[in-house]
Amino acid sequence: MTPYVLSAPAAASTTLSIDGDRLWASLMTLARIGATDKGGVCRLALTDLDRQGRELFVRWAQEAGCRVRVDAIGNLFARREGSDPARAPIATGSHIDTQPTGGKFDGNYGVLAGLEVLRTLNDAGIRTQAPLEVCVWTNEEGSRFVPVMMGSGVYAGDFSLATALAATDREGVSVADALRRIGFAGDAPAAVADGAPRFGAYFEAHIEQGPVLEDAGIPLGVVTGALGQRWYDVTVTGQEAHAGPTPMRLRRDALQAATGLMNEVVAIAMAEQPHARGTVGYVQVHPNSRNVIPGRVTFTVDLRHGDDAGLSRMDARLRAACAALQADGRFAVDLVQTVYYPPAHFAPELVAAVRQGAERAGLAHLDIVSGAGHDAVYVARTAPAAMIFVPCKDGISHNEIEDAKPEHLAAGCNVLLHAMLEQAGIAA
Ligand SMILES: [Zn+2]
Repeated sequence: MTPYVLSAPAAASTTLSIDGDRLWASLMTLARIGATDKGGVCRLALTDLDRQGRELFVRWAQEAGCRVRVDAIGNLFARREGSDPARAPIATGSHIDTQPTGGKFDGNYGVLAGLEVLRTLNDAGIRTQAPLEVCVWTNEEGSRFVPVMMGSGVYAGDFSLATALAATDREGVSVADALRRIGFAGDAPAAVADGAPRFGAYFEAHIEQGPVLEDAGIPLGVVTGALGQRWYDVTVTGQEAHAGPTPMRLRRDALQAATGLMNEVVAIAMAEQPHARGTVGYVQVHPNSRNVIPGRVTFTVDLRHGDDAGLSRMDARLRAACAALQADGRFAVDLVQTVYYPPAHFAPELVAAVRQGAERAGLAHLDIVSGAGHDAVYVARTAPAAMIFVPCKDGISHNEIEDAKPEHLAAGCNVLLHAMLEQAGIAA
């Protein structure tokens, strides 16, 4: 691994810089709520621990002079007024819910980086023209309640508030009940279509959750968009039979047939590099007995691509492979698409603002496409949006060992500060 080159100090070309120690201390304080033995965090959406995390954020935001708005799906918006009330807010944020074995940084960094920007402006006595808002989106992880990215999805109108409120966890507790129980069922409209404020711009800082920045030895990722996704459930049916008496040429081995398709998934992605991905992450073999030829195999396929035409090519090739397998009548293949997210292309002017922020801070940077979904992808459907990535150790996330360097987190926060200031404008 090449060592990081930070042309120190960060933000050398301006006098204004965030307080990296304060940002780190805030991250560590929030991480104590739901801390696990292995150094991670378990703070599932809308639990008592999530309530404690939310209350801490609200207290910090109020101490920073913000008014906090809670909407009907529990999204929080901490607002710092600007000099021009007619302008749409320049917003940032992310989420504070975690996976059951989550880390300290996923989501939490984006929220607390936003708060650190506000604290820095307070210390410097800077008033912006546009108001600033820091958002905490409800249930981004989708671990307790499905769908994922619930708060931002409702905000953008990708599914209705009623659908989200009716979703239940494994114990049958609904989102509506859980929100009421923790005291965060707000009355502000949740969807832009219902009157929720539309942002002038939205930035989200996040750990990369992948290995690209660390591998390149670059401290900052300028995120140009997010991969589109198509998910499928596939079932291949052959014929169960005894492993001994059935000669090889007379078998209809569903696992052997399915394995061919699984290899094709990898080949499909390899043909569309550098931004395509193809993954089989779940396989179930029936009857899963050592001396029975498998009669049925069910598996998932996850295809991703940076542009929609490419994703369609991958889809067509997968369907052709399934059709070919059925051609001689020995196997039946059932392919059902379960998820489709189109690729996101972030607003060029905001991507440029992030790049410029990195240059102003003297940071080496790399254009990068997000392989994962983020709240910013939904928000981007309602307003110009962009993201800032910082490296995480070994690219590992959704894991208790998730880790990031204080200097990288501070550098990303400085880029956020300058990108937001450029968009909001400084009041005379
Ligand atoms: Zn996240």
